[in-house]
Amino acid sequence: MHAGRDVGSVPEDLLGEASALLEDTIELRRRIHARPELGLVLPDTQAAVLGALDGLGLDIVTGRRSSSVTAVLEGTSDGPTTLLRGDMDALPMTEDTGLDFASRIHGVMHACGHDAHTAMLVGAARLLARHSEQLAGRVVFMFQPGEEGFAGAKVMLDEGLLERWAPVRRAFAIHVTPLVPSGMVAGRTGALMASADSFEVIVTGRGGHASMPHDAVDPVPVACEIVIALQSMVTRRIPAFDPAVLTVGSIQAGTTTNVIPETAVLELTVRAVSPASRSLALEGVTRVVEHVAAAHLCHAEVRPVGTGYPVTVNDGAAAEQALAVAQDLLGDSQVLRLPTPVMGAEDWSFVLEKVPGSMVFLGVAPPGVTNPAPNHSNRMLVDEPAMATGIALHAAVALSAIPAPAPAPAPAPAPAPAPAPAPAPAPAQRRLGGH
Ligand SMILES: [Zn+2]
Ligand SMILES: [Zn+2]
Repeated sequence: MHAGRDVGSVPEDLLGEASALLEDTIELRRRIHARPELGLVLPDTQAAVLGALDGLGLDIVTGRRSSSVTAVLEGTSDGPTTLLRGDMDALPMTEDTGLDFASRIHGVMHACGHDAHTAMLVGAARLLARHSEQLAGRVVFMFQPGEEGFAGAKVMLDEGLLERWAPVRRAFAIHVTPLVPSGMVAGRTGALMASADSFEVIVTGRGGHASMPHDAVDPVPVACEIVIALQSMVTRRIPAFDPAVLTVGSIQAGTTTNVIPETAVLELTVRAVSPASRSLALEGVTRVVEHVAAAHLCHAEVRPVGTGYPVTVNDGAAAEQALAVAQDLLGDSQVLRLPTPVMGAEDWSFVLEKVPGSMVFLGVAPPGVTNPAPNHSNRMLVDEPAMATGIALHAAVALSAIPAPAPAPAPAPAPAPAPAPAPAPAPAQRRLGGH
């Protein structure tokens, strides 16, 4: 059963039209790639986007706290509002690709493909502007800064993105990955990416001479015990089929061999694929840290680092529809169904908490490379022709009709005081039952 096959008025040769936009899209992507910017304030990137959207007749609003750009295209007939998103920020790392359009900003690189996301969304705006007579409803193009740790999507939500064009009925985003063959699309219903929460843990004892630990309170073995206890917490408290990952990525204490330091500092990240295991793991971090420290007369403080990102959860119907649109556009063999989520995180999750929608991955593996460098590698490459697929997919999702919700099961009669054996509930209801 394919609830999403009703793809309405997607034009026949959308992919061909998107390919015709490829040259301009590559030019824009390379320009952004060469001048990457970090965080929420991206003036050069914002200027590039505004320049590229000029003349398309879109309604444009820029962010107050960030360099976001929201551009709106009105269709010629009534219909739902669709939100399409591209993120615009880079990473604090030095590029080592050797490309002639490589980053000219030392220590900053587009290593997550957000330059491609931005260029593809501009391409989609151009393509959809040409098809506004076939567009029922409205498309909101969300150009978002600050995905890499700054919760830029949340900043845009807090500035009223959804209220301004309410009701937004559907949200869609694409993330490129060199780990999937170029031009292929991969997605799934339900959890797509993990939550991410980072913490700094400060274990405080009392410094002293290394030869007389009994006169001091040594935080070093306590910090080590906390690392091990956190791993035990994850394996013993988190259900095996609803996993979480906890990694202590940094441990710092002391200066030399014969001094017991006053403090030890840990830095850690917690990932989970459901809100339930996320909250179990987060609650466990504080409990384990505080109690292990207390057992050894230390004091410990758990400080959140940055804004935690929720689990990125694809809406079932919206993800099915997006994948069906991709199959119609590209052929069934070009669309992969992922068996599991990935443990990376995305602030697109904040949007998907509020609007039924989805994210898919778009393969950008450079052809002929057997072991392509992944996202966040200083050698990450994007096979640029795949951007035509991204442009067409954005546009096809926006042009496709939102499928009517599946007919609700016939309402059950009001329960009789002493019911006879009830008819078997529908499978979905059974899953939602108390077991
Ligand atoms: Zn990234
Ligand atoms: Zn990214």
